[in-house]
Amino acid sequence: MTSWAGAALRSFVWAAVAATGTAAAHDAAPRSLTAQAVSAPVMELQQVAANVFFVQGVSALGSAANRNFISNAGFVITHDSVVVIDALGSPALAEELVQKIRTLTPKPISHVLLTHYHADHIYGLQVFEALGAKIVAHAQAREYINSETAHLRLEASRKDLAPWVDRSTRLVPANQWVAGDSSTLKVGGVDFVLQHMGPSHTAEDTAIFLPQSGVLFIGDVVFRNRIPYVGQADSRHWIAALDELLKLPVKVMVPGHGPASEQPRQDMQLTRDYLHYLREAMGKAAANLDPFDEAYQATDWSRFSAYPLFKEANRMNAYNTFLLMEQEKP
Ligand SMILES: [Zn+2]
Repeated sequence: MTSWAGAALRSFVWAAVAATGTAAAHDAAPRSLTAQAVSAPVMELQQVAANVFFVQGVSALGSAANRNFISNAGFVITHDSVVVIDALGSPALAEELVQKIRTLTPKPISHVLLTHYHADHIYGLQVFEALGAKIVAHAQAREYINSETAHLRLEASRKDLAPWVDRSTRLVPANQWVAGDSSTLKVGGVDFVLQHMGPSHTAEDTAIFLPQSGVLFIGDVVFRNRIPYVGQADSRHWIAALDELLKLPVKVMVPGHGPASEQPRQDMQLTRDYLHYLREAMGKAAANLDPFDEAYQATDWSRFSAYPLFKEANRMNAYNTFLLMEQEKP
């Protein structure tokens, strides 16, 4: 047995996740912790299965005040080593995650598996690289990491997120690029199924499924209990990829942002149905050559309008989908 069971993991954290699947760790934390969280978010370990943990970033934009702690990262303690999933949004956060891991096990950190190459999930990579971890990502990310966009983003982050992201923060490429729809990595008796989901939210989106424990690290392709930002995404492929995930026996889902879910099916279904509805409504409008504003007004959004971020995101999502459907028209 590995050492997590005897470690100082606070049981209330696990209880909070188990009870509702939505309670953030700090909801159940002592008052002093809650007070601290207002100024600088506290990194708390949450356990989702035997030997499987994650830390949860805050729901906010990245800032110097939150050290860019706006995304989640997970890790699995295998028989031989520790496998990390996503690298957090700054080297300081990655170092703190390493310290958290060290409270549970002295085993080496052998791998970092990435769900995608967005800044808030990868600026901590260099810390794990320095520890000798092998970085694994989908080959579709190679274009992005070498792109002007990625470098401009880093330049901007060095200003906006100083001192947490600075001159010494680098874009670290993977040591192992995986290709194809699905591949399985075996580390220390644990299987990691890397299921390619892109192009959807990004070209390289990869969901990481642990069949032995039923945990799914889904990255940013499912937004829990809120309207997603669809952006320029390829929603047709996104829906198809979610249909594949819905076939998996998932017990707990850890998204790229927000709390873990014990109703993963419902969450995947909501994102899927929303994307489907956007495509159906906007597809009809594009086919009829209706002007966007008219089509938007005429669409019944009541099924989704009560979800958080509907006001902020829905119109833009509909507009982007309208443009996409115009392009997709035969
Ligand atoms: Zn993200």
